Amino acid sequence: MPSQAMGALQLETDLRKAIENQELQIYYQPIVLLKTAKITGFEALLRWEHPDLGFVSPTKFIPVAEETGLIIPLGEWVIREACKQLHLWQLQFPSAEITMSINFSSKQFAQTNIVESIKDILNGYDLQPKHIHLELTESVLVENSQAIDQTLKQLKALGLILCLDDFGTGYSSLSYLHRFPIDILKIDHSFVMGMSSNDDRNSKVEIIQTILALAENMGMKVVAEGIETQRQLAKLRALKFEYGQGYFFSKPVDNKAIEDLLAAQSQG
Ligand code: C2E
Ligand code: MG
Ligand code: MG
Repeated sequence: MPSQAMGALQLETDLRKAIENQELQIYYQPIVLLKTAKITGFEALLRWEHPDLGFVSPTKFIPVAEETGLIIPLGEWVIREACKQLHLWQLQFPSAEITMSINFSSKQFAQTNIVESIKDILNGYDLQPKHIHLELTESVLVENSQAIDQTLKQLKALGLILCLDDFGTGYSSLSYLHRFPIDILKIDHSFVMGMSSNDDRNSKVEIIQTILALAENMGMKVVAEGIETQRQLAKLRALKFEYGQGYFFSKPVDNKAIEDLLAAQSQG
């Protein structure tokens, strides 16, 4: 067997065990209002600490979970955990007005009761649907499946906020944006990285300006991903970008570390 396939097979076996043994954990990364740096929400990001390998990147194990169908129980667990966490933070920090963004794989649309399941979780934790942001990638939209269209409409009708993740990296097309009820575009971090150069007229900036105008016309909000430097932040602010996330504000961290951030914010 080629070593890559062996690797995937071992990862699958280990991932099954990891789910049973609760080796998986969720980290949270703040999403902030760029003008004030106030935290407005978090993105839930899966972390797996493998007993021998240490931290395994989700970019490695999510594809394995998707291929094997494990993403369905795993994805549901993430939704439940992240919603429970949001509920607890809302009780602890009632004035904070925070949202939770959850990555949602296209494979999760295969879960037949997904809309009911999410509805039950929201009711169970007494959450307003508008505080839950589902992050989808363009791969979902290009599948062109009636079942997915239907489910997205139901999730939207439930009141959830739909975000298009990694925008600008894939097949982004105006027609998808018209067909789907997307509320938020998350501009991929490659655009933010491209803004580091001295030349203000570089093409990344021009593309970003076009995306901003498009979003405004279509009534969508924009979030910039991967802000790492003060300089990038200043440029995004100058472009009137509203929201952002990145290492400059905080890396993804565990729930205890987030509580410290929220406590500091509620005092300040
Ligand atoms: P994503 O949804 O686009 O998440 C953003 C990724 O960018 C995260 O990587 C985050 O740690 C990283 N990031 C944030 N700020 C910065 C920055 O300033 N600089 C740089 N270089 N990177 C930054 P992470 O946590 O490794 O996750 C990778 C991808 O794995 C995610 O990309 C998402 O597609 C997927 N993923 C993670 N958790 C889940 C999950 O629960 N379900 C699903 N379906 N996918 C997940
Ligand atoms: Mg995401
Ligand atoms: Mg992204």
